[in-house]
Amino acid sequence: MIENRHNINASSMERHREIRVVRGVSRDEMPRRAFLCLLALAVGGPRVARAQSAPSSVLIVEFSDKGERQQAVRVPKVVKSESEWRQQLSPTAFQITRRAGTERPFTGAYWNLHDKGLFRCVCCETALFSSANKFDSGTGWPSFWEVLAKENIVAHPSKSREYMASEVTCRRCDAHLGDVFDDGPRPTGLRYCIDSAALRFVRFAES
Ligand SMILES: [Zn+2]
Repeated sequence: MIENRHNINASSMERHREIRVVRGVSRDEMPRRAFLCLLALAVGGPRVARAQSAPSSVLIVEFSDKGERQQAVRVPKVVKSESEWRQQLSPTAFQITRRAGTERPFTGAYWNLHDKGLFRCVCCETALFSSANKFDSGTGWPSFWEVLAKENIVAHPSKSREYMASEVTCRRCDAHLGDVFDDGPRPTGLRYCIDSAALRFVRFAES
C-alpha cells in the first residue's frame, strides 16, 4: 500500500549524522572512557533531553466546522510515543504521518471528493485545508492550491536537486502530510499534494 517517494525519517538521519561525527574522531586522540561517554551521548542524548523537557507550544489558527476562521491560540505541541500513535491511527495513517510514507495514487478516500468541508489533521485535528482551495490535479492525490492558515502547516526546505518539492508537516504534531510543488494553478502557483490518510474530512456544518 505504501510508496516511499518521500525522504527518510529526518530524526533518524540526524542520529546517523551524529554517530558519524563521533566515528570521525580518532580513538588515539582521546581516552577510551571519554570516547564511550561521547558515543553514549550521541546515541542517547537527544532522546533523553526531549523526554525531560516540557512540550513546546505553537500558535495555531482555529476554524469552526462551518469553515469560519477564528482566533489564533497558543497550544502545546502534541507529542506521543510510537505505541500511542499506533493505537490511535490505522496502519496506513501511521505509516504515512509518522513514517513519512505515501499512499498509492487513486487509492485514498479524498482524491476524488468534491464535497464542501474542512480537512483536519488525522493525528491532532488541526484544520489544514478547505474544499474551497481543492482542485483536480490528475495525480490521484488530494491537491490544494492554498493552505487554510500558514500558521498551521510547516513547509520544509527542498531536499531534492532534481525537482522543486518540499515536505509539508502539521505544525502542532509534526505529522507528515505530503509535499508542496511549484507547478500549481493561479493565484498561488502552488500544488499541495497531500495523502488522504493524513487527513480527516469534516463536511461543513449546515447553519
Ligand atoms: Zn497534526
